[in-house]
Amino acid sequence: MPIHHLYVHVPFCPRICPYCCFCVTPVTRRGMGRFLSNLLFEYRGIANDLQPRTVYFGGGTPTALPTRMLDELLRGMVPSGENAPEEVTVECNPATLSPTKALALRRGGANRLSIGAQSFDPAVLATLGRTHSVRVIDQALGTARMAGFDRINLDLMFGVPGQTLASWEATLAAVLERKIPHLSCYALTFEEDTEFFRRKACGRLSQDPAMEKKMFEMAGMMLGRAGYRNYETSNHALPGHESVHNLAYWRGEDYYGIGPGAVGTVRGVRHRNGPLCDDDSWSEIEREELTPQVMAAERMALGLRTAEGVGETGFRRRFGFLPAERWQKEIQQLRDAGLLTESAEAGGAGRMWRLTDRGRLLADEAAVFFMNEY
Ligand code: SF4
Repeated sequence: MPIHHLYVHVPFCPRICPYCCFCVTPVTRRGMGRFLSNLLFEYRGIANDLQPRTVYFGGGTPTALPTRMLDELLRGMVPSGENAPEEVTVECNPATLSPTKALALRRGGANRLSIGAQSFDPAVLATLGRTHSVRVIDQALGTARMAGFDRINLDLMFGVPGQTLASWEATLAAVLERKIPHLSCYALTFEEDTEFFRRKACGRLSQDPAMEKKMFEMAGMMLGRAGYRNYETSNHALPGHESVHNLAYWRGEDYYGIGPGAVGTVRGVRHRNGPLCDDDSWSEIEREELTPQVMAAERMALGLRTAEGVGETGFRRRFGFLPAERWQKEIQQLRDAGLLTESAEAGGAGRMWRLTDRGRLLADEAAVFFMNEY
């Protein structure tokens, strides 16, 4: 069976944000051409094993590439005609989406854009070190729509130092006013080896978990009232606008990941690429055989992040045992804590597990219950 999902990592960014922990490099460096040749070479190595339903160009900022390279990239990796994937997403930074690039993406088969807006509050954008303004976000939205993109995601960030509840509410109101069909709302994290981590370590930045909780709940409430479905802990979509690619991750489907820093899981093996080297190459640095136990634990941890939850019929078909046989104590503990609910599967013979509203707020902690032995 061929693999149906492909992630492509483009590491270039106009400027490195002080909280960023991804595999990124400033665009000022030369060698984008060499990078692209290496990427196309890596793609050719897996192309025969791919029949993509989804392709996701992430980063970094794929739209930091010049138009002719975007053309080449999509032409090289996105099948057309009757083999065209159902969903082709490109991440972009608002400041890098010119009309020419947006049209090139459409021409190359992209039908979904994910825009790193982060906030509609200029003060929050400044704290995050973002180079764009609210006006530039609106320009990018106009450009995307003019080019024919109706499937648009905006990334938003909450829990930013100095961000008030009123500021977050105003950002949510701004996206509702702009009728954005998909929103990814993430709490700011302070990852090791980032500028924000260092500032926090020396007391120049701090986190407020109580405020983060209020912001998480506010997003659920405001977006829910406006018709969005909180189909994954951090993701909200109007009906029909869910990300097919990301759902594949959460459902534990196989996917290839290519490019520096990319990760993929194919037939029980997790592949991990290393960072971009000075000569614009990279290589696979890890190949890990996943045991069925690890895959089953990941299925629980990730599946529970989704509104659809995990059903035991499908789980048993795939892994040969029931979640309750392996994690009876853990499931009971999560239920007792009010984080997990059990119901009957629709039309199925088994049970269904889902996180409660409170459980979603603590999804990472709930995951540990299933992953802690691995
Ligand atoms: S734009 Fe995104 S990927 Fe690029 S440096 Fe900023 S946070 Fe990282």
